[in-house]
Amino acid sequence: MSGSLRELGEFGFIDRVAGLFASHLPEGTLGIGDDCAVLEGPGGAARLVTTDSVIEGVHFLRSAISSRDLGYKSLAVNLSDIAAMGGRPQEAFLSMGVSKDTEISYLEQFLQGFHELCDESGTRLMGGDTTGSTGPLFVSVTVLGTAPRGQVRLRSMARPGDAVCVTGRLGDSGGGLRVLLDDLPRDEPDNARLLERHHRPRPHIEEGPWLAGRPAVRAMMDVSDGIDSDSMRIAERAECGIDINLESVPISDELGRAAARYGWDPYEMAASGGEDYCLLVTVDPERLADVTLAFQDRFGRPLFAVGRVTDAPRRIRYFREGEAVRLGRHGWDHFRGDEEEGETR
Ligand code: ADP
Ligand code: MG
Repeated sequence: MSGSLRELGEFGFIDRVAGLFASHLPEGTLGIGDDCAVLEGPGGAARLVTTDSVIEGVHFLRSAISSRDLGYKSLAVNLSDIAAMGGRPQEAFLSMGVSKDTEISYLEQFLQGFHELCDESGTRLMGGDTTGSTGPLFVSVTVLGTAPRGQVRLRSMARPGDAVCVTGRLGDSGGGLRVLLDDLPRDEPDNARLLERHHRPRPHIEEGPWLAGRPAVRAMMDVSDGIDSDSMRIAERAECGIDINLESVPISDELGRAAARYGWDPYEMAASGGEDYCLLVTVDPERLADVTLAFQDRFGRPLFAVGRVTDAPRRIRYFREGEAVRLGRHGWDHFRGDEEEGETR
């Protein structure tokens, strides 16, 4: 491989890894390329495996997030990937690289946050690893889960004509990050709510298996990098495009008010902010009304339709009141940051 990671980008690098290790997998199993790997489970069930890391200075600042929230979040991001495949979490493994000066109380609080979400989600901590670190705190979590084989949902299952929906409001976490980065008042009530959503995202643990139990629901993934970047992941796997109506993207009252106060574009933040950890799903358009009604009944809040799958390969387009618009910022890539329009895409 020549050139730098900055040129290749996070997803280009993952494609290279997948290419180098490409091999024939047994029928019904899946390796690199979706929210979880899919393995053969007992009794015909599918076993799901996912792993995600959080690193000080990259994903969080020690001065900004409490260690309790950090423990909660480090598990939440993994549970979100299990939900995105239509599964339920079962076992977790926790690996940590910690500097020797770390206060024990800091680690205890971290474990309490982790434990709290284990209890809420029925996940058991079964092992892990602990090492020293010469610098930043490093946390890597692996979660195993299960799903009925016929209910595993992949990114590749989208079809042209499908409605594109999200299971929650977008952009709050991105707003919380802006509060931190721009050093805005953290005790102002709207800012405090945005920060809470950034630090303690709620993975859609119940919504995932429920949606996967509906045959009308086709592709699913979780929104970790922003729907702009994440729609592209579906477009790549399903060889389709996605049109998004920015005015249909659901934003919270808190984000709306903060955006008015600080001059942010809330829709752009919703599309490119990331870390919302709700689900992005595509639905058979003929059965969309039934699914949204049943979702509202079950969860007491809407399933938001934000766009449509098209047959234009790998093309994500945005519309505002029917007019095509360009997004100023794109979703998160670890080696490129949140790209400005015109840079590399
Ligand atoms: P997610 O945001 O849903 O956790 P990622 O974008 O992190 O997904 O990863 C996409 C896919 O690439 C997943 O299947 C993941 O397991 C795989 N992947 C990422 N990095 C590596 C790596 N270094 N080696 C092997 N597979 C990787
Ligand atoms: Mg994911």
